[in-house]
Amino acid sequence: MSSTSTKKSKKSSNKTSPLTTSNAKEWWQKEGIRFQCQGSSQCCLSRGEYGFVYLTKEDRKRFANYFGQTITEWTKQNCDRTQGFWHLKEDPKREECMYLKGKSCGVYEARPTQCRTWPFWPEVMNAKTWNKEVKTFCPGVGKGALIPPAEIQKQLDEQKKSEASLMKEARAYQQRQK
Ligand code: SF4
Repeated sequence: MSSTSTKKSKKSSNKTSPLTTSNAKEWWQKEGIRFQCQGSSQCCLSRGEYGFVYLTKEDRKRFANYFGQTITEWTKQNCDRTQGFWHLKEDPKREECMYLKGKSCGVYEARPTQCRTWPFWPEVMNAKTWNKEVKTFCPGVGKGALIPPAEIQKQLDEQKKSEASLMKEARAYQQRQK
């Protein structure tokens, strides 16, 4: 799941990030959405057209702190940069995120923003994409407690902020390459 350049257009962790424009619709603002992670780990696997696990500077800083490294050290060891966007390294022979352990996130406390905010990403919060892609892909949709609109909005806002940060950093990088 990702976008613009977000989701891996080459391959993406389903939870791949979205760098798209928000297009939130009224449909979820009335009652909210029932969602509870079922631990399928579907969103931690690469999936065709979907994107990478993108990382803002804050995400990289959180990881660096978690592993007791500097941002530079951690980024050099664990990230690649595509068109200016930092993302977790990927092994072309494996579809799993490098941090997936069994069906659980091995770095849960330090997981990136896009992993925290899934599935409430701006790019999928329109009824068509939600019903066609998210509902069929993620078994957590329709399960568990009703997530109120205010909480969904909070997740959306966090994701939008993250995407803006990714774009800013990538643009600055692209400018430096000219
Ligand atoms: S960082 Fe954790 S939650 Fe995010 S894709 Fe990797 S394993 Fe999944």
